Amino acid sequence: MKSFLLIVFLVSFNAAFSQHVNLNELSSERNSYLRSRGILYFSDSVEKEGFDISLNEKEEKLNSYLKKLQRDYIDKSGAQFPPASYFYKYRNMIDTSIIYKTLQKMPKGALLHVHSTAMGDAEWLVKTASYMDDCYFYNSTDGKEVYGALHFYAADKVPANWISLKQLRRENDNFDEKLLYLLTFSAKDENSRVIWEDFEKIFDRMGGLIEYLPVYKAYTKNAIEVLLKDGVQHIEIRSGMHGIYDLSGNEYSYAGFAKIFDEIVKDVRKSYPHFTAKIIFAGWRGNTPDKVMKYINNCFEIKKLYPNLLVGFDLVGEEDAGHRTDFFLNEFFKKDSLEKIYNLELPYYFHDGESTLPSDINLYDAILLKTKRIGHGINLFRFPTLEKIVKESGICLEVSPLSNQILGYVQNLRMHPASGYINKGIPVAISSDDPQIFNYKGLTYDFWSAFMAWELDLKQLKKLALNSLVYSALSKEEKEKAIEYFLNEWDSWVSLSVQ
Ligand SMILES: [Zn+2]
Repeated sequence: MKSFLLIVFLVSFNAAFSQHVNLNELSSERNSYLRSRGILYFSDSVEKEGFDISLNEKEEKLNSYLKKLQRDYIDKSGAQFPPASYFYKYRNMIDTSIIYKTLQKMPKGALLHVHSTAMGDAEWLVKTASYMDDCYFYNSTDGKEVYGALHFYAADKVPANWISLKQLRRENDNFDEKLLYLLTFSAKDENSRVIWEDFEKIFDRMGGLIEYLPVYKAYTKNAIEVLLKDGVQHIEIRSGMHGIYDLSGNEYSYAGFAKIFDEIVKDVRKSYPHFTAKIIFAGWRGNTPDKVMKYINNCFEIKKLYPNLLVGFDLVGEEDAGHRTDFFLNEFFKKDSLEKIYNLELPYYFHDGESTLPSDINLYDAILLKTKRIGHGINLFRFPTLEKIVKESGICLEVSPLSNQILGYVQNLRMHPASGYINKGIPVAISSDDPQIFNYKGLTYDFWSAFMAWELDLKQLKKLALNSLVYSALSKEEKEKAIEYFLNEWDSWVSLSVQ
């Protein structure tokens, strides 16, 4: 009730502020000037994400503690403030910070934007997956396969130029180090003009490693456990849902993929009953309209069998290099009639606005096509009408700060547009996109970066985590349960952190 009255007060305060602050009649008397300044500042505060959160006593205490740590850290780090530079430059300063350790234990709700073969632990891939029998490395630069591609083959069916990892390890003591280097980004990638080419090469390299059925099962379970330990309780993975194979020549795609993934989730839930997962189908935006139509048709066939698992449709790949979103309008329009035929809904969850180009207007299409959320939306700030629609319609932005920096879209995270989106009350959830390729685990680094770079407070951290559940594709019942679980975990974390 108290917070409701406060909201009513501040909203009317905000509505009336123009009568209180007339720029033409501003007094140069100090007290009157400061009052006007305060009115302007508070009228902005009312708009912010997190304004509606009221903190209890313990939370207030934790907030003061975190804000003090944040201030001290910013003051001490000066020009070496990690979010203002490329992630890898001052990463050790994040690892050793008290805030990182505190946020690591913070319940984070859902990870709404992550890719199925880039969500886990790169070191696990090198140290465990690539040690499995029958793993081979493409040891040629002839361009037929990407150099360093990994794949499993039966001993009598190994193609030319593929060398067993056992042999390579015998010949090179530092092979594992080299492999990790080939599968991840590092400081060398800053300002790279070919970062997306390198990014796609990494996906190609590890595809044959992760998609080998025994690896896929162990990898996905391990990746989920890494996220659970990092405070994530629900995931929505983007996946092409194809390519899983075994050495007997079987391939598991679409419904076959869904079955395997569903079994892994059920297995994880035996130890973590609160864990939930959904899939958003992700095709490639560089493809032909026919192929995109096939993706959409396939999705309905999968959804018929797994209606609660497959929740949406998306296209992925470098936005500036791929087709514009409106290139596929005819195909996207056909979804409506398919929804009637199948009596199933397949909403869009478009990756869009992942661009620095003023001419990139894909967000208009994403919104007109009723996207449920927006993957990235970095350039939304260019389109004021869309900003209003996104806010009023509750279209959540899946913001991945470190992905945006590492891939070269926003160099200094202090200047990331999401800071402004949060201040304008546009719903935002924090994601990590491809943490394994960025060579970190989980979601804490992204929360840490947002908290420090945008000087957030505990209200906003709580709001961002809650947004990830509120705007998830969980059913109404699942959502209620998930939020209840989250709030309990949150209270425990707050109690532990203020001791
Ligand atoms: Zn993505």
